[in-house]
Amino acid sequence: MLFFDNSFARLDSNFYTHNVTTSLHSPSWIIKNHALASDLAISLNDDPEKKLLHAFSGGQPLPGSQPLAMVYAGHQFGQYVSQLGDGRGVLLGELKTSASQWDLHLKGAGLTPYSRGGDGRAVLRSSLREYIASEALAALDVPGTRALCVTSGTDTVWRETLEPAAMLVRVAKSHVRFGSFEFFHYSGQHERVKELADYCIEKYYPEITVEKPCQRYISFFKSVIERTAILIAKWQAVGFAHGVMNTDNMSIVGDTFDFGPYGFMDRYDEAYVCNHSDHQGRYAFNAQPGIGLWNLNALGHALSSLIETADLQAALAEYEPKLINRYSALMLSKLGLVEQQPDDALLINSLLSLMQANDADYTLTFRGLAHIDTTIDTNIERSALIEHFTDQAGLQAWLGTYRTRLQNNNLSKAQRQQHMNGVNPLYIARNHLAQEAIECAENGDYTELHNLMQLLAAPYTEQPNQEKYAAAAPAWSHALQISCSS
Ligand code: AMP
Ligand code: MG
Repeated sequence: MLFFDNSFARLDSNFYTHNVTTSLHSPSWIIKNHALASDLAISLNDDPEKKLLHAFSGGQPLPGSQPLAMVYAGHQFGQYVSQLGDGRGVLLGELKTSASQWDLHLKGAGLTPYSRGGDGRAVLRSSLREYIASEALAALDVPGTRALCVTSGTDTVWRETLEPAAMLVRVAKSHVRFGSFEFFHYSGQHERVKELADYCIEKYYPEITVEKPCQRYISFFKSVIERTAILIAKWQAVGFAHGVMNTDNMSIVGDTFDFGPYGFMDRYDEAYVCNHSDHQGRYAFNAQPGIGLWNLNALGHALSSLIETADLQAALAEYEPKLINRYSALMLSKLGLVEQQPDDALLINSLLSLMQANDADYTLTFRGLAHIDTTIDTNIERSALIEHFTDQAGLQAWLGTYRTRLQNNNLSKAQRQQHMNGVNPLYIARNHLAQEAIECAENGDYTELHNLMQLLAAPYTEQPNQEKYAAAAPAWSHALQISCSS
């Protein structure tokens, strides 16, 4: 028996619309996340009457679940859209376990009052892409929503071509977005801005205990700023591009939220644009930290009935140093360096420039650096790094500086290698690997998908006979184009 709380449904009905789901025909499981299910005290295999399968494919809701579509607004590619909302998903309810509480959201669940011309559906391809990235990021210690399962049926929907429909159960601490606040602010419902802020503080930021209203909301805003800064520092360090950082895709708890045309970077390219539809490169990889601030400004504006302008500005000023500090620490750690020294930023930046100039694989370069020692062992260095760089002189010059720096580092070679292999993954959700797994799944073969998920769940641990998954992207993958259509 699952126990649902429906705290969001206890807010007044301006925050959502109760909504029935539209079930898939002849539903079946595509993939189940048993590890996450066990954290939620659910067994997806123990479903003799198919109640879970039906609930998670849009059929009869589980007892206690009150499905609702949340309303929100948002800045999409810089333009304010005054009403969005869950157009193809519903919040099934908040599942209570003995330790915590999680939102279960069914994505692809059919039309809602917020569908705006869309069909309310999600396709198998995009549902699996979300499943893959959610779980890959979780294993890399990047905050994000999780994926419990994907179901499909015999239904098809039209995108650029006819595609199988599917549903994903998203598990998250929260489904409140920056855009949720924007909706109430810009429609002049300031009492509801306050109500939503109080709801978020009580539920997601219980450590904020100050009662004085002005201080309370400043603390809330500062907490969101801090979590967002840490999130984006982590994206930059693992080489993750979100692709659609609209304010309706920004989580109030600092989770990676809404996976569309995201990309895990193969060849290092600071200006990488993973979303084929993003012609201006607004959400390019190196624009993400700045866009994070832009979005926090938009949130600040939406909270301006609660917080004075000077306080909003003071809080926003904390974003950049927080992000830079965390990013520097993460990059230092990727290089196996224990304590920061004055020239370290230069060391990191010159490596990134070298990778950029050589189209070097971001993930494999860091993984390969664990082999470097203060003394030169050409054989090891050859196998580990050389193939990624055409500019050998440039590489050797950088390695020279790195070796000197390693002499001034408080770890033995073995300790450093162990540390680096624990923070630099070998397996990431490369676009072409996801694509292959999805194409196989669309043809009813799930072996690739299961194999990929198993590797991504333990991304730092080298597995035998899995070289293909640890290799740089093949040339054909550079032409893969991912756009918003999902
Ligand atoms: P997204 O780009 O997925 O973040 O979605 C932006 C907005 O469009 C949200 O309000 C979604 O609910 C809505 N949306 C996206 N796809 C569909 C669809 N197929 N049917 C209805 N609404 C959709
Ligand atoms: Mg969205």
